[in-house]
Parts: sequence; C-alpha cells; structure tokens
Amino acid sequence: MDELLLHTCCGPCATVPLLELTRDYRITAWFGNSNIQPQTEYQQRLSALKSLAEGSQVPVLEDCYAPDDWLQEVRFAGGVFALIDGDEKYDENRIARQRRCRACYRFRFKMLAQTAKAIGLEHISTTLSISPYQFPEIIAMELEQAASINGLQAVYIDFRPQFRQSQRLAQELGLYRQNYCGCGYSRQEAELERQARRAARKAQRENS
Ligand code: SF4
Repeated sequence: MDELLLHTCCGPCATVPLLELTRDYRITAWFGNSNIQPQTEYQQRLSALKSLAEGSQVPVLEDCYAPDDWLQEVRFAGGVFALIDGDEKYDENRIARQRRCRACYRFRFKMLAQTAKAIGLEHISTTLSISPYQFPEIIAMELEQAASINGLQAVYIDFRPQFRQSQRLAQELGLYRQNYCGCGYSRQEAELERQARRAARKAQRENS
C-alpha cells in the first residue's frame, strides 16, 4: 500500500478524509498549522486531532508552531476581509481573502511536501478540501505545486459533499469544534459575519 502524508487542520475536518484515504493509503497525519491563533486554540485543535488519530491508529507528526514565520509569509496579503451578503465590498473582499489564503496554503503545503520528502513518503494530501469555507481550486493548485516541486504526487479529493457527515462524526466523538478558520484575521471576520447575520435576522423579524 502507498504511503501518504496528510495535512490535517483539525479533528473534525480529518474525520471523513481519514476514513476515505485509509482505504487506499497508509496514512501519517501531519499537523503543521502556524496560521492558528492563539496558541491555546492551536493546542485544542491538535488535541482533537490526536484523539481522533489514536482511535484510527494513525500516527501524528506535529511540525513546529511558528506564527511569526506564518505572519511574515502572508504579510503582503494580510487584513480582515469579511464576506457579508449585500455588502458593496463583498467581491473585493473575496478576492483579497483568496490572495491571503493562497499564501497561507502555500506556506503550509511547502512544509508538508518537504516533510514528506524528508521521511520518504511519495504522496501528500490535505483535509482542508472538506470545508465549504475554503477555496478548493486554490487548494488543489497549491497542493499540486508543492508536490511537483518536491517530486511527489498530490492526492486532491473534494470532500465538501461530506462536510455535514464530518460535523456529525465530530459531534458523536465529542471532538472540539472551532468557529473560525484559524488565523487572527479569520477570527475577526467570523465574528463580523455572525454579527451581520444576527442583524439581518433581527431586521427581518421586525419587518414581518
Ligand atoms: S482564513 Fe484560514 S486559510 Fe485563510 S489565511 Fe486565515 S487561516 Fe489561512
């Protein structure tokens, strides 16, 4: 069976990919997510992943936590870009967020591919492709690029149709579930977007 190094962003997102990919590959889970802020949040997500992996008998490799390096990498694209329905800046913010997230994917996949090469694994993949809040085409492109630079095979699977299943499994297993993507920017964006949705629901109630 081929071996694969799987970038895992958290426990919930890893549930379905672990089930699916272990059919065809011997998996090692890799946790390299210097994007996550604050460090307590990083530890909670890592613990959730370890608890899931232990049950699946999948080894976990933790990379170093280097938030300053991550920030340096995305500095040219940093910023808070909330996506709020009806906002005149929606499209502009979406483009800006894509740019920032591309830099973030690139930073993590580069380390993923270099680690896979160093330990002699030929395939790499990611659990990010289960999230409907990410940018799948950009993930696929960046994964492919990191793999080809290092002479590896990228295994990109669009797991988004199984997102609800992953959330159900995470709930059943009692895994920690976060409410923002990971970086400090995304934490602020998620809060702004929740506030906007609450305000829209309130306005709707008052008008009905
Ligand atoms: S929103 Fe998520 S993918 Fe995008 S930059 Fe922040 S942590 Fe990275």
